[in-house]
Amino acid sequence: MNAHPASPADAFALTPIGRIESDYPDKFGIPRQPGLAPAARARLVLLPPYDDPLTVRGLEAFSHLWLTFVFHQSPERWTPLVRPPRLGGNARVGVFASRSTHRPNRLGLSLVELTGIDTAHGGVALELAGHDLLDGTPVLDIKPYLPWAEARAAARAGFAPAAPPQCPVAFSAGAEAALEQRDDADSLRALIRQVLAQDPRPAYRRGAEARLYGVRLRDVDVRFRAEAHEDGPAMRVVALVDEAGFDDQTPD
Ligand code: SAM
Repeated sequence: MNAHPASPADAFALTPIGRIESDYPDKFGIPRQPGLAPAARARLVLLPPYDDPLTVRGLEAFSHLWLTFVFHQSPERWTPLVRPPRLGGNARVGVFASRSTHRPNRLGLSLVELTGIDTAHGGVALELAGHDLLDGTPVLDIKPYLPWAEARAAARAGFAPAAPPQCPVAFSAGAEAALEQRDDADSLRALIRQVLAQDPRPAYRRGAEARLYGVRLRDVDVRFRAEAHEDGPAMRVVALVDEAGFDDQTPD
């Protein structure tokens, strides 16, 4: 089979139809797939000329959407083999056998929940939940999800046969008190719990550690530590540092 090599002459110019405003200001801590942190919120703000409300007529009747987007914070270079975190960061698989962010064309695909459509402020913004998208992500296309055509519960899924294991998450009294000061206390607590339950630390860091980590969610820096627990590490939130740098690090 002698296919002629892919060349720039075959390239397609793609234009973003919108950008994501997300709860995730950094890549660190974003769950590896949608649905793992249902509390994660985002707005997909459509760009002119795609922000005509006619473009989303009837979309409100669908509960979930496929988003095709660009991993704009990933390098353009790619390698044939990648190291999925799910395999501990050691074993390597083919880039096309993975959902790696380092891939040809840097295209991502995510199934997200549609929680609302805002056309009241001029233009169109889609309100989304349970996503895995960095703030600023350029979106190339939106498609309604068709479960009768696309859900394959019995499909084989290779090295990722099920959702990753979840860790227990606890909050220090100080972190809880800081949360209680906020209008979004319940949704932020849920988001923190769901994100830390994924153990966002690098794949080569497992078990309990003295080291303090920070993950930025919405406008806070969540400081946490991995502690020993009977069934593997448990995450403890020790402080929330807001953008003004105030932290409430009172230990238990
Ligand atoms: N569901 C998508 C897919 O399968 O194509 C994404 C899977 S990828 C493993 C998920 C990771 O992409 C997140 O954990 C986050 O670190 C990274 N990510 C999200 N948005 C990004 C962006 N705009 N640029 C680079 N990396 C991004």
